[in-house]
Amino acid sequence: MTTAAIASLDALKAVAATSGKRVFTILHTNDMHSNLIGLSPFTDYTPMSLNDDVTRGGYSRLGTLIAQRKKELGQLGAVLVLDAGDFSMGTAVAAATRELGAELQLMSRMGYDATTFGNHEFDLGPDGLGSAIAKAAAAGFVPSVVASNTNLSADEPRLAMLKQLAAKNILRPYQVIERSGLRFGIIGIIGYDAFKYATDPGGVTFDDPIATAQKTAELLRDREKVDVVIVLSHGGAIKAKDGNSYVGEDVNLLKAVPDIDIVIGGHTHTALTKPLLVEGRPAVQTGKYGESLGELVISLEGGKVKVESYRLIPVDNTVMGDRTIQQEVDRFLKESSQIVFASRGYSVTQPLAVVSEDWPMNYKDIESGTPLANMVTDAFRKATGADIACTANGTIRAALIKGNSGIQTVYDVFSLAPLGSGIVDPTAGSAMVQAYFTGRELKNMLEFFLIDDPNHPGEYFPRVSGMRLFYDPSRPKFAQITAIEFGDLDRGYNPIDLSESDSRLYSFTCSLYVGVIIAALPRLSKGAVQLVPQKADGTPIKTRTDAVVDPQESSGPYVIHGSGGSMETDSAVTSAAQKEVKEWQAIMDYLISLPNKNKDGISILEKDDRIREVRAIAV
Ligand SMILES: [Zn+2]
Repeated sequence: MTTAAIASLDALKAVAATSGKRVFTILHTNDMHSNLIGLSPFTDYTPMSLNDDVTRGGYSRLGTLIAQRKKELGQLGAVLVLDAGDFSMGTAVAAATRELGAELQLMSRMGYDATTFGNHEFDLGPDGLGSAIAKAAAAGFVPSVVASNTNLSADEPRLAMLKQLAAKNILRPYQVIERSGLRFGIIGIIGYDAFKYATDPGGVTFDDPIATAQKTAELLRDREKVDVVIVLSHGGAIKAKDGNSYVGEDVNLLKAVPDIDIVIGGHTHTALTKPLLVEGRPAVQTGKYGESLGELVISLEGGKVKVESYRLIPVDNTVMGDRTIQQEVDRFLKESSQIVFASRGYSVTQPLAVVSEDWPMNYKDIESGTPLANMVTDAFRKATGADIACTANGTIRAALIKGNSGIQTVYDVFSLAPLGSGIVDPTAGSAMVQAYFTGRELKNMLEFFLIDDPNHPGEYFPRVSGMRLFYDPSRPKFAQITAIEFGDLDRGYNPIDLSESDSRLYSFTCSLYVGVIIAALPRLSKGAVQLVPQKADGTPIKTRTDAVVDPQESSGPYVIHGSGGSMETDSAVTSAAQKEVKEWQAIMDYLISLPNKNKDGISILEKDDRIREVRAIAV
């Protein structure tokens, strides 16, 4: 590695002064996932004072940092501010993205030139996404959204808003930015793995990433006469098996398309401390959640790029927040509280529980996530009264971090369960759904979740309440479960009959998001998993899993296209007010109902025996 050290401003000035050389800078982020507030917990984040908290990220700090770095590096030449997608989905503010478009508005205020689509931009469907962008555009604060391989040609009403945005040139197939005498061509690509995981593209199709990048790069060179081609790639890079190098779609793009000079990557949440180089052309990525700002300084000589300096700058309490951005963040928080939480009696800053240690959720470390997963599935069972509750590890989207205060607010807890939407209530967050299954069907379903997707390790691992399972990971797939027992630590456990002939039905609950996957399992597994979700009387619940389409390029068995309400209404668990019980609501209701309170009356969440219990036991 000869490049990629951090160069001083004086050294960079000397490069910029060299005849025949031009210097420019790209400041970049990816996968910010609506983290307007530093992580975490919420009450610890104090952006308007320095050196007094351990949270990372936060848009008002990021805004300050971008402005500072732009000012300094502007002495060398052009500075671009770019993002590689998944700017939305994950926090309480994301839950109101359709109504507010807060993410894009704040990115525009922070000085972003362009972003692109990640898979999670489609979580609320193309109409939800169109609405979010349109809100930001109407407010007068919207960066360009460059989406080169997002195809809107289908004749589908849900695409209307995105089509209008394309007609207004807010959504673009490419973008040319002329700055400080250089012409930059920007391409936006959503990668193979990402579009496989777009849950509700609703008529949007995705053209081949490499072929599109190739074609668009040629157009930018030949017709637009750009000096530099930059791809915003929601594709990513992960560590190769050798543990040293990186592989992935961002690297593949550079290899396949020599016309591409620079890849600004995302999707894999990889924090690259050095650029990945293909013949000197870099791919970079900053990790996630706006924890760091990437700073890539490039020289251009004879049409060839060279990395002069690269670093990830921490966004932390050494950076004073930008007052205007913070005022906007506070306003969006207030509005999202009204839109998302008020109807169920919560407000976004409300404390729900206090913890005395972290409750981690690291998908690759199953054991460490057990307490949080037990709490979540216990909460599902309590909220619905079902015998058994289940979820997949990867749908628990955040940890509970103690921080200084230990206080977990609605904002923090919502981040555990932000995915999906309802059936009768279209506000954000999955509805809890319920169905009945035989013991055999439970086994079939759990066998499927035990298969690991190497691209998403640990994310499908089953988490349960009201039962425990024994499995032998050395056995072939679909034959790993050796026993399932019904019950819990308080009542004790009894074996469930797993034979085909046993017709006893168990009531089962999960989020709609997971329920749609379960209902689609016979099809996704090409018949290897047999189950039929039933009502209490044994009649089948009709599902619309025909909307589930096959993967374009699947490396794992898991494809979850077609969520967003494909189980019929009578599977939704409703409260007395005839509202769906939301997944996040089940967890919040559980937390406030805990019997032990601190002196301020806030529930104390502790890791007791039930919380520590291992319910998926490898034998
Ligand atoms: Zn992504």
